[in-house]
Amino acid sequence: MSKPYVVSFSNQKGGVGKTTSCVNIASCAAEMGLKVLLIDCDPQGNSTSGVGITKKSIKKSTYDVLLGECSLYDAVINTKFKNLSIVPSTLDLAGAEFELFDIEHRERRLADSIRGISDEKSFDLIAIDCPPSLSMLTINALTAADGVVIPMQSEYYALEGLTQLMMTIRKVKELYNHSLTVLGILITMYNGRFNLSQAVMAEIKKYYSDKVLSTTIPRSVKLSEAPGFGMPINYHDKFSKAAESYRDATNELLTRIGIVPTAL
Ligand code: ATP
Ligand code: MG
Repeated sequence: MSKPYVVSFSNQKGGVGKTTSCVNIASCAAEMGLKVLLIDCDPQGNSTSGVGITKKSIKKSTYDVLLGECSLYDAVINTKFKNLSIVPSTLDLAGAEFELFDIEHRERRLADSIRGISDEKSFDLIAIDCPPSLSMLTINALTAADGVVIPMQSEYYALEGLTQLMMTIRKVKELYNHSLTVLGILITMYNGRFNLSQAVMAEIKKYYSDKVLSTTIPRSVKLSEAPGFGMPINYHDKFSKAAESYRDATNELLTRIGIVPTAL
């Protein structure tokens, strides 16, 4: 592959499973043999700690990349997991919005830095974890992305947020990134025995049927405890239902992208 496929995990609603999905799908894709780069684009740094990177070991971060203080490649750290690297984030990133304010083409800082490494064939897949807002950080991720994955919970208010997010994606596509597509809507923390979950899922499918992935991620204690060990689920509990479901979701997404992992 000559150029990495860039996928952004976005939803302005907080706590819907962006980080959990980004980290675990990145890790499952890496397990399947793809060279994967995670980019933590959230000042909370949850995907950074989620793959076992401690604050002390961070020298350069997404903040430095966006501000043009280093190349993307300079900020890459190899994780202890095979084929999986990360550009980490720190709290500094919260200030990037303000500091980018009067910089020209501030929405394309991340896209340009990714383009800088594209030809080196270093990565097959780049997965970007977004913050819970439609800020300049998310706009940078959407401008850099080939496809967006929208993790969402199957609950009543989810749909309202989805309409707004779809509008933002359409705007970014129109203004900055014509080839941007919605790769999939991933239902997380799903409980099929709960009537409301089923009803909301049916409603989402009514409007976005072709976008909703057939894999859903179940609610799982293993998934919520894995970040505490700094491990993706396919390492924390390799044979769990949660690990299986993230493998299935990864397969579905890679099929949509058109990537066939060599290790399969
Ligand atoms: P934020 O908007 O703050 O970045 P987020 O959208 O990235 O949040 P996560 O951090 O992935 O969401 O998930 C929110 C919380 O729910 C976390 O504590 C996480 O461990 C937990 N969680 C995510 N997915 C599941 C799941 N399938 N089962 C159980 N807990 C989950
Ligand atoms: Mg998050």
